[in-house]
Parts: sequence; C-alpha cells; structure tokens
Amino acid sequence: MERYDVAVLGGGLLGCFMARELRRHPLKVALVEAREDVCTGISRANTAIVYTGCDTKPGTLKTRLCVAACKGFGDLCRELGVPFARRGSLMVSYGPNADQTLQRKMIQGMENGVEGLKLMSGRAALEWEPGLAPGVSSALYAPDTGVTDPWELCYAAWENALANGVTPWLNAPVTDLLPEHGGWRVVTLRGELWAAAVVNCC
Ligand SMILES: Cc1cc2nc3c(=O)[nH]c(=O)nc-3n(C[C@H](O)[C@H](O)[C@H](O)COP(=O)(O)OP(=O)(O)OC[C@H]3O[C@@H](n4cnc5c(N)ncnc54)[C@H](O)[C@@H]3O)c2cc1C
Repeated sequence: MERYDVAVLGGGLLGCFMARELRRHPLKVALVEAREDVCTGISRANTAIVYTGCDTKPGTLKTRLCVAACKGFGDLCRELGVPFARRGSLMVSYGPNADQTLQRKMIQGMENGVEGLKLMSGRAALEWEPGLAPGVSSALYAPDTGVTDPWELCYAAWENALANGVTPWLNAPVTDLLPEHGGWRVVTLRGELWAAAVVNCC
C-alpha cells in the first residue's frame, strides 16, 4: 500500500490549494479525487467574485482570512498566471429594510478592516450604473471586490501542486477512512493508501 504524509481528499479549489500549500514543506502528499479530473465540482463554475469581507462576522477566523485573501488575491493570481480584476461591486437595496441591511454591512465591513466602502443614495447609484432596475433606494460600493476565473484558478493551483510533486489519485472516490497505525487507511474504489494525516476537502 502506498504511504503518504498527507492525503488531501477532494480536488476542488480547497483541495488543490491545500495540496499546493502542503508541498511548500518536505511532505509526501496525495490528492484523492472521485472524478476523472480536478475542478469538476462547484469550484468550476461559481459566481467568480472575490469578496472583500463585508459579509462575515467581525472577529471570526473566516473574516480574518477573507479580508487578508482579498488583499492578496492580485499577487496570487499573478503568481499563477490567472486573470483577476478589481472591478469593485455595488450591492443595491430596494426599500427600508434592505437599506438597513446595507448600513449594517457597511459598519461590519469597516469593523473588519475593509477599505474604501461607500454608502450611496439610490439616485447616485443609478447615475453611476444606469442599468440598475428602477426603484433602487441605496447602494454599498466596495471598491476592492474582484473577479477571477475560478476554473483557471483551481487548475493553476493543481498544475503547480503537480509540478511540485503531489501524487494524483483520480477516479478514486473515497468510501472509507479507517484509523490505522496512528494514521489513516484511505479506502477508495481505485485501491487503498495510508496517510499520517488526512485533510478532508470533499
Ligand atoms: C451558485 C454558487 C455561487 C458561488 N459563488 C461564489 C463566488 O462568487 N465567490 C466565492 O468565493 N465563492 C462562491 N461560491 C462558493 C465556492 O464556489 C465554494 O466555496 C468552493 O468552490 C468550494 O470548493 P471546494 O473545493 O470545497 O468544493 P468542490 O469544488 O465541490 O470540490 C470538492 C471535490 O471533492 C470531490 N469529492 C466529493 N466526494 C468525494 C469522495 N468521496 N472521494 C473523493 N473526492 C470526492 C468532488 O468530486 C469535488 O471535486 C459559490 C457557490 C455556489 C454554489
């Protein structure tokens, strides 16, 4: 049975980046993916937005990572040769309840360290973006919101992980994980491997 230091399960954005990151260290790493290739799950076709961190609760690990990742996304995409543009976003509201939500997001975003946020009136938003549906009552502008190509991003991380020695286990749906010798026997439909640690990104 092949033995690894780490088995990463699932080859979406999380698994591919996890495998890439782990190979910065002297570790024998396998990426175990159920399908015939990586990036066939939700990572291949999401909305492609790189969020600033207005939407998550202050003080959480998720917020800290989201804000830091958004700031560093341009460098990451340049390093991997993936398209990225900081176009900014307008989150728009229609009516008093939604206006309050945007105000809360503005305060939350500022607390989270998101820079350049601006709350504008519906009229100002329409002037800025005439394609908005009429009746918009306010808008939250976040200049640092970005867009990327999630499929290219995932695949670039994967190619980089492969180039750095990650072993691919494709067509290998994991069906069981059994504790064994202080690590894990990873049972797949393609065969079994053993790993001292498992990172589940399925
Ligand atoms: C409609 C929509 C829009 C979104 N828009 C955005 C956005 O704009 N910006 C943003 O940041 N996020 C967005 N997201 C969220 C983002 O797409 C996900 O958080 C991200 O893609 C999750 O990546 P993942 O690697 O966890 O999952 P996946 O890409 O689904 O990867 C999981 C992998 O695990 C494999 N797997 C499953 N079971 C097994 C098994 N038993 N054995 C081996 N392998 C297995 C699957 O085949 C798959 O390849 C959106 C999500 C949705 C649904």
